[in-house]
Amino acid sequence: MGACLADGAKVRVTAILNEDIAQLLPYVNAVVKYASFDPGGLTITFKYRGSPVILEKRRVVVGQLDNLDAAEDILDDLMDFLCDVQSKMGQITPVFQPKIQPQPHEIIKLLPRTNCGRCGETTCTAFALKLVLDQQKAENCLPLTGDEIRKVLSVLESFNHQQLKAD
Ligand code: SF4
Repeated sequence: MGACLADGAKVRVTAILNEDIAQLLPYVNAVVKYASFDPGGLTITFKYRGSPVILEKRRVVVGQLDNLDAAEDILDDLMDFLCDVQSKMGQITPVFQPKIQPQPHEIIKLLPRTNCGRCGETTCTAFALKLVLDQQKAENCLPLTGDEIRKVLSVLESFNHQQLKAD
């Protein structure tokens, strides 16, 4: 495992894998909610436990970590996650193309757009952006009715095929 300091005090680590995991990447793409998949370059980028992760066929890079202990912890967890995906390959339909991501503007039009701040965000736009990144919950927009929350959730869910537990 190699480590370097990036973004000031944050740590970025690189782990070299013993195995070629190229064939696993489309399965990871299928289960991770929001990922950027480059099938040509065989690279997938996503957030795991809040940290940016890049997977390549023989390399894992994790960034924005507080220290090397955190790096070790997240790498262990990430390896467990990849083993979990590998063990479930028979049940997962691989996705070989980049997935369409939900866009904040599709969510904003479903919100009250009053910027009331009751969700804890300063604007509805900020709330929508966090919703599509899975960093907010639709029910935190307190003015929304149950039906309106369900509508927001159904739009968000329409972009998700399958998912395990990456964030
Ligand atoms: S609670 Fe709803 S209406 Fe108020 S700012 Fe947040 S998203 Fe907008």
